[in-house]
Amino acid sequence: MSASPSNPPSPAQIIDGKALAYAVRRQVARRVAEAGRPVRLDAVISGDDRGADLYARNQQKTCSAVGMEYHLHRLPGDVDEAGVLETIDRLNRIADVTAIMVHLPLPETVEAERIQAAILESKDVEGVNPANIGNIVYGRRSLVPCTALASVELIESTGIDLRGRRCVVVGASNIVGKPIAVLLMRAEATVVSTNKYTEGLTELTRSADVLVSAAGVPGLISADMVKPGAVVIDVGINRITGPDGERMTVGDVCYDEVRAVAGYVTPVPGGVGPMTVAMLLRNTVDAALEG
Ligand code: NAD
Repeated sequence: MSASPSNPPSPAQIIDGKALAYAVRRQVARRVAEAGRPVRLDAVISGDDRGADLYARNQQKTCSAVGMEYHLHRLPGDVDEAGVLETIDRLNRIADVTAIMVHLPLPETVEAERIQAAILESKDVEGVNPANIGNIVYGRRSLVPCTALASVELIESTGIDLRGRRCVVVGASNIVGKPIAVLLMRAEATVVSTNKYTEGLTELTRSADVLVSAAGVPGLISADMVKPGAVVIDVGINRITGPDGERMTVGDVCYDEVRAVAGYVTPVPGGVGPMTVAMLLRNTVDAALEG
């Protein structure tokens, strides 16, 4: 498909993250079926956080739908850092365990970054080990953080040639905003990384051919902040109370008004979220077959 933000369709085309994720999952299922050996994901969870539990249950279903094994290692809520590290170390040493992820939140006394750094680089399918994040800069083969991969895949699905394009990334966390910016730099785009201290955000975002928002601030990106025809990727996942008192999930982008201006936009839910899950599955099969 070829498209150019300077020649926009109107109103914005919706980038269907669910459909694109489904296509990736089918490819993953095919690779798993042809692998000739089990492909598995080992996840570590601690305590009884309801959100993490739900995520783990969904993950189990998603893995089984593509023919992967899913092994959940449940640690007590009061586990200390040494206890979590011991589990990671044990999984690192088992040859049949080729993919490891750690559910958050961890107990308060446990430093997530130290746990993430302990996951063997080749098994770190969430791409949270600093070595994997660092390798993105060098363009070396590595397991890239799933949300960053998902965002770039969604941008590329529009057919835009990123080389020389101006991309503005709102939000610069280590696992989301920064890796997205680096992947866009690798595609030879002109990249501006912004954060909560950035002055003149509107001026910057209005100049963007590609605008990615990963700030976690509902309603941050309004229509006047978007260049006509731009590709807009909404990474934010925010739980808010709607006008009728109902709880709902929204992104960072004022979806309805931005749709009238942008060339392409991702919805929330149904955009980056499902694609992130698909990227975790793809990283898992990559780790098993190529790691
Ligand atoms: P974070 O809190 O670690 O980082 C937020 C970043 O946004 C920081 O760099 C901060 O400086 C910046 N920021 C905050 N307010 C800003 C503002 N007003 N203007 C400009 N920059 C601002 O969050 P995170 O872990 O990077 O996650 C960001 C969002 O992405 C959250 O809503 C999170 O739920 C969502 N998320 C979605 C997925 C997915 O699969 N779709 C995955 C991970 C995170």
